[in-house]
Amino acid sequence: MNLGHVWLVGAGPGDPGLITVNGLAALRRAEVVIYDRLASRELLDEAPAGAIRIDAGKSTNNHTLTQEEINALLVEHGQAGRRVVRLKGGDPYVFGRGSEEALALAEAGVPCIVIPGVTSAIGGLAVGGVPVTHRAVATSFAVVTGHEDPTKPREGVDWTRLAGSTDTLVVLMGTARLDGIARALTEGGRAATTPAAVVQEASTPRQRAVTGTLATIAEVARAAEIAAPALLVIGDVAAFQQSLAPAALAPLAGKRVLVTRTRAQASTLVEALRLEGAHPLLLPAIELDRRVDAAAAAQVAAALAGGTYTWTAFTSTNAVDVFLDALFESGGDARSLGRTRIAAVGPGTERALRARGLRADLVPAEAIGEALGAALAPHIAGGRVLLPRAEGARDVLPAALRAAGADVEELTLYLAAPPADPPAEVLKAVQAGQVDVAMFTSSSTVTHLAAMLGNDLSALRNAVIACIGPIVAETARERGLQVDVVAEPHTIDGLVEATRAFMHARRPARTEVR
Ligand code: SAH
Repeated sequence: MNLGHVWLVGAGPGDPGLITVNGLAALRRAEVVIYDRLASRELLDEAPAGAIRIDAGKSTNNHTLTQEEINALLVEHGQAGRRVVRLKGGDPYVFGRGSEEALALAEAGVPCIVIPGVTSAIGGLAVGGVPVTHRAVATSFAVVTGHEDPTKPREGVDWTRLAGSTDTLVVLMGTARLDGIARALTEGGRAATTPAAVVQEASTPRQRAVTGTLATIAEVARAAEIAAPALLVIGDVAAFQQSLAPAALAPLAGKRVLVTRTRAQASTLVEALRLEGAHPLLLPAIELDRRVDAAAAAQVAAALAGGTYTWTAFTSTNAVDVFLDALFESGGDARSLGRTRIAAVGPGTERALRARGLRADLVPAEAIGEALGAALAPHIAGGRVLLPRAEGARDVLPAALRAAGADVEELTLYLAAPPADPPAEVLKAVQAGQVDVAMFTSSSTVTHLAAMLGNDLSALRNAVIACIGPIVAETARERGLQVDVVAEPHTIDGLVEATRAFMHARRPARTEVR
């Protein structure tokens, strides 16, 4: 039997991008994932599809797993020789009982590897706008649990000693006891005027923060209905919260951005958005339903091999991928395209070709069908053009190619349909108007989103609408959306850049801080 593994992985404070490189690698190899309430749900999708996922925070048969039961579960799967990831919010050794789990595993002789994480107490606060140290303001910090009742005698945390012993005090698990904590610290000698802040769900799309002083913070948090999980921070650094909040620092930071591409295609956009500090909300509006069968693909492969087509024109990355997959499955490969010249509508499609070992001979300056038609026109008179594309695609391109004297053969590859089973939670967030920016990368993402929302896009009324190009923008306008951003160039990077520029130009005037 295999010798098992347990990786004790810190998931970071909430933003799935804040897991470590090692943590993600462990997750991607896991056979069993045992996760906590605070670990990001999106990260669970990184585990292999067949991995067993166990929610350690969820009650089974009406009871939540006790720490002993969790330890036993880790030992059991480890002893069975499995690759187990124990995924914990923040850092596993900061109030996570991770060290107890490691001790239990050591005791049982199961190998355990600790992969630290970004703790909410430091990293979560940073994203929330509060630095735990700042030159000349705070040179020390302490992280304490607020879980123990500060009004009871014999509690674990010595609030009186803490009150004066450190510049910055970060309290975890204290949301329900803000009054008692503030009182205990004041009684311990901390000035009632000391700045304080509470950051709820730091680094997630739901992040909220309130600020006040030691005297007012409990009341301010109550009025704002701040709820767990939240961080309480006391000290002069708390006064930075508003000037260092995400929105004060970067145009897309903290913004919830609706991404409507297919899951397979979304990753570059999602990554680019995360690097802007934004929170991508994934609602794939397209599902590819393959329409090309092996027989049709084999026929095309034979025609390609016979040198029938002078040009093959690709109008999307999906067309490249589906066409080459079908070609491969019917016994062909990239070499089948050896006797045809290749055109790509834009840089994204060109990249997809390059990923399959193919160079585009022609890419128009502007990534739209009209430009592709015009660029191909001088080369195709009397020739035959293969056009692999989606069912129901626009007629502009084939018409332009025919007008230029080519014999055009369209090969229907797939139907881009609205998804059968869209993620309910994201759909609900959209309907509740919780989207700051909506990004559209093709016309069908617009029409399918409309279909998913009962043909009513009014939930996006207050969102910034960003489209990858003019055709998509036109579709969005036809659907009643007011388009704010049309990317130039019509690429993913162009889309993110244009949206940043728009948000930056429209940022509110900086309030004077004195
Ligand atoms: N190991 C975790 C802490 C676990 S204790 C870490 O290193 O972050 C749980 C407490 O952490 C919560 O009650 C809350 O106070 C804090 N916490 C965790 N994630 C948080 C987040 N995203 N925003 C605010 N507080 C968070």
